[in-house]
Amino acid sequence: MPVPDEDMGDDLVLWKRGKDEFQDSFSTASTWEQIRHKKPKVDWSEAVWFTQSTPRYAFITWLAVQNRLSTGDRMRSCGITQGCGLCGERDETRDHLFFGCPYSFTVWKGLVRGFFGRGTNPDWSITLNAIKRKRANRLGSILLKMIFQTVTYHIW
Ligand SMILES: [Zn+2]
Repeated sequence: MPVPDEDMGDDLVLWKRGKDEFQDSFSTASTWEQIRHKKPKVDWSEAVWFTQSTPRYAFITWLAVQNRLSTGDRMRSCGITQGCGLCGERDETRDHLFFGCPYSFTVWKGLVRGFFGRGTNPDWSITLNAIKRKRANRLGSILLKMIFQTVTYHIW
């Protein structure tokens, strides 16, 4: 580094924009891209995070997809006994709540009849795969994801 010299002018404040790239304007996006740890995109991300989603519904759905809701099976490790509040099943799990539980399945089936008809399945994995599947009808796809998140939030 050269020794500071008044003849060379004032110092400049520069922001790092990328590898060996500096500019005088700050960018939140480029700063975020530099400091975050990138992981591969998960296949369910578009079922949880989409423009039209309601943030609190998306958040609960995000927890449900990762099986991080404090359901009975997870609370057991903390010494808490918790059954299904909807049907009385002793073993409350994510898969029971969405949509193995007769009550939640009745609600789910009633709302998605137009999408799945008689093919509505109470299994979590099958349901999530059906939500993730690309549809030709974009509006229908958005509506189905919104229904899924709304039901997940309210059942929880
Ligand atoms: Zn139940």
